[in-house]
Amino acid sequence: MIKYNLTCKCGEKFESWFLNSAEFDSLYKKKIIKCIHCDSSVIKKSVMAPNVSSKSNKISKKTKVEKNIKKQLLDFRKYIEKNCKNVGDNFTQEARSIHYDKKTSKGIYGKATLEETAELIDEGIEVATIPWIEKSEN
Ligand SMILES: [Zn+2]
Repeated sequence: MIKYNLTCKCGEKFESWFLNSAEFDSLYKKKIIKCIHCDSSVIKKSVMAPNVSSKSNKISKKTKVEKNIKKQLLDFRKYIEKNCKNVGDNFTQEARSIHYDKKTSKGIYGKATLEETAELIDEGIEVATIPWIEKSEN
């Protein structure tokens, strides 16, 4: 994507995004690019704003990555909810009982404090902490 600052014959400046300079040329020739102030297609391309353009690109990439991570975490959450037992606040206790009594092979999930999690890991109990993404978040 490339961003052009455009100046209209009316003197107003506005900016617009294009796929590339060829797209701009083609839209310009077809008079599709119009001034947002007076609707004239007599516009001039002025200096590009590469800084703004690259910055915006970075932001959109980051957002995309964040969305992917969120989706993965959400999938992970769904998987856990489907395959593991929710023990809520009893997580530490239940994790120990599974580890020491070996009663069940079914996984559990629930809440534990950082200290509790550290203790479990010290005891050789496999614990993973994952961010618990709310389903309502997009
Ligand atoms: Zn204008």
